[in-house]
Amino acid sequence: MNLHYTPEQQAFRQEARSWLEANVPAQPLPSFDTAEGARAHREWEARLHAGGWAMVPWPVEYGGRGANLLEWLIFEEEYYRAGAPKRINQNGIFLLGPTIMEYGTPEQKARFLPPMASGQEIWAQGWSEPNAGSDMAAIQSTALRDGDHFVVNGQKTWASRGAFADWLFGIFRTDPESQRHRGLSFLLVPLDLPGITVRPVPQLDGLPGFAEVFFDEVRVPVANRLGPEGEGWKVAMATAGFERGLMLRSPARFQDTARRLVELYRAEGGGGCDRVGEEVVRCWLGAEAYTLETYRTVSRLLAGGRIGAEASLNKIFWSELDLRMHELALEILGDRADLLPEAPAARASREVGSWLDGYLFALAGPIYAGTNEIQRNIIAERILGLPR
Ligand SMILES: Cc1cc2nc3c(=O)[nH]c(=O)nc-3n(C[C@H](O)[C@H](O)[C@H](O)COP(=O)(O)OP(=O)(O)OC[C@H]3O[C@@H](n4cnc5c(N)ncnc54)[C@H](O)[C@@H]3O)c2cc1C
Repeated sequence: MNLHYTPEQQAFRQEARSWLEANVPAQPLPSFDTAEGARAHREWEARLHAGGWAMVPWPVEYGGRGANLLEWLIFEEEYYRAGAPKRINQNGIFLLGPTIMEYGTPEQKARFLPPMASGQEIWAQGWSEPNAGSDMAAIQSTALRDGDHFVVNGQKTWASRGAFADWLFGIFRTDPESQRHRGLSFLLVPLDLPGITVRPVPQLDGLPGFAEVFFDEVRVPVANRLGPEGEGWKVAMATAGFERGLMLRSPARFQDTARRLVELYRAEGGGGCDRVGEEVVRCWLGAEAYTLETYRTVSRLLAGGRIGAEASLNKIFWSELDLRMHELALEILGDRADLLPEAPAARASREVGSWLDGYLFALAGPIYAGTNEIQRNIIAERILGLPR
């Protein structure tokens, strides 16, 4: 094991740091769950792309920098250190992008990856349906073959950023006689096709962070199928593996939260020897442990390994750590924990309101990307070999 960075990696870090210091907007952008914020975040993606920083591990011809995953982790550390905007196209660049690299034809890679990297095409994720959440194999939306098109009918729900997205990826039942995991195909669907209705759904903060998407006789070209017909489940599980096991939540995000938590604890007069102090230290160690575990995963992938069921352990760990850090911050803030950023008593410090905002989102961590109960089932059955 070698825990030191090479001179090349250190130079890469310095280059990323300098670019981010010169380019990250001085003021935070409006939330990407608003029309104005979505526009501003698209512009930011375009700027990242122009600088060559949109998706550093992707090949240059697809809009990347040709770096490797270790350099991606370094870039993420610098990204959070610089306080750069959240990635509006995270469904695309972190989840669908790697899946297209694995399953896409050369034509699909050339068509879909460059506009994804530049933020020109924003993606929503269409797994959940009204009667299929945790039990995703129960999906009912159909895509029936008619010549060189699929005719799609049904409904997807909880599509994050669906209100402002251009495309949706998801699984649809292409064999109407099939049951459960069989007979599904993974489709890439432009959201402006005739027969599609996108209905925004407000989140807990009132902003339209989700959308329901309705399909009524929508004609999707067969060329938009990713992977073989009927094998959509396998392709979707690759996407879920990238999501839970590595890309959706890079460790830098939690290291940054842990650093801010330590600062908050100190600023509020914490001395380190009380219960809260001990918990703050435990959280900080958790973020460091998650970082080392991720470096291990990346080293394994670079040596030719694959992400497997252990992605579920990862997902439980980061989502529970994130929630605990935000709960502790609210406890430290005491009466001020309930203040929104725009409240007069919170204006003096951007930190105060941002913890409540972060807490509301952290509450969703144990739910999205597959609930933690479902991850525990996967661990029990596939890692521990326990009976169903
Ligand atoms: C912030 C956020 C963003 C999201 N983004 C998207 C998105 O972009 N695209 C998308 O398709 N979906 C998205 N979702 C939906 C998410 O994937 C589902 O909410 C999740 O899979 C759970 O499904 P459900 O809500 O239908 O709950 P249910 O499946 O009805 O589950 C209800 C409860 O029962 C438990 N449960 C269910 N089955 C079992 C079991 N077998 N064993 C033990 N416990 C069980 C669950 O853990 C949960 O606590 C998002 C959700 C959130 C909160």
